[in-house]
Amino acid sequence: KDIDVRSKFGSHIKIAQFNPKTVRVVINTLNSNHNVFTMENPHRVVIDIGNGGAVAKKTEPKAEPRKEEKKDTSVKDNKEKKEEKKERRREEIKPVADNEIDRELAALTGLGGKIIAIDPGHGGSDAGAIGPTGAMEKNVTLDICLELKKILEDDGATVVMTRESDVEVSPKKSKATDVEELQARVDIANESKADIFLSIHMDSFTNRTARGTTGYYFGAGGSTSRSLADKVRANIVDQLGTMSRGTQTCNFYVVKHTDMPATLIEVAFISYPDEEKLLTSKEGVRKAATAIADGISDYFG
Ligand SMILES: [Zn+2]
Repeated sequence: KDIDVRSKFGSHIKIAQFNPKTVRVVINTLNSNHNVFTMENPHRVVIDIGNGGAVAKKTEPKAEPRKEEKKDTSVKDNKEKKEEKKERRREEIKPVADNEIDRELAALTGLGGKIIAIDPGHGGSDAGAIGPTGAMEKNVTLDICLELKKILEDDGATVVMTRESDVEVSPKKSKATDVEELQARVDIANESKADIFLSIHMDSFTNRTARGTTGYYFGAGGSTSRSLADKVRANIVDQLGTMSRGTQTCNFYVVKHTDMPATLIEVAFISYPDEEKLLTSKEGVRKAATAIADGISDYFG
């Protein structure tokens, strides 16, 4: 795929491919003036952005030689001119190396060069909470975090995972105490000199009507941790359609002992039947991961 990144038309472009059939493109434009349409031969989506004074001035020199072309070839309607313009753009894109596009994208998402530590809650002998149909928290958190890792790496970040399979993190495995297991996760984040730390969990309550999303941060951790927790929570609520339980202070070990801005996110309640169903579906996992990535991007933005 060809990706054209022109920062003079917009401040922010995010592109991510989740599967062979779906590419997500988010464009934040400098003004709301845009036009989207499709054209054929070859099939393509054309997005015209911006008509402001500054933009028009910048494009003028490029357009000039084409006015002369037009004289030579007599009558050309608007549609043909647009086709020509699009072809020119494609020609301009071709020589650009893939890694150059990657670098430009990384700069635009704000995640280029960032180190992000991700902790999928529980694992191995610790299943975490169990849902009404038997879904285990440790598997849901791992699925979300593996998807999240892909998205963040596509956006140019370096991702450090506390675990990437169904295991305990401490070298003592199932013999580790709770604190030893949690400290092993903290050590990975601190030693990696990560810019931020996120521990991903599913909530649970004996009352199965409890539901929703909570962002937690260590109270003494300061406003950066609060901002991270808040932005990730807000994006999950928006994109998963869960109820917001707010951004709250906590005393959880992993966010208390990590050196960088840190949050523990309770994505939804595994004990609430609808949320268990949502977060054990491929679509739900993908949405949760995308929302968390967008929250991280907002935090750095
Ligand atoms: Zn948990």
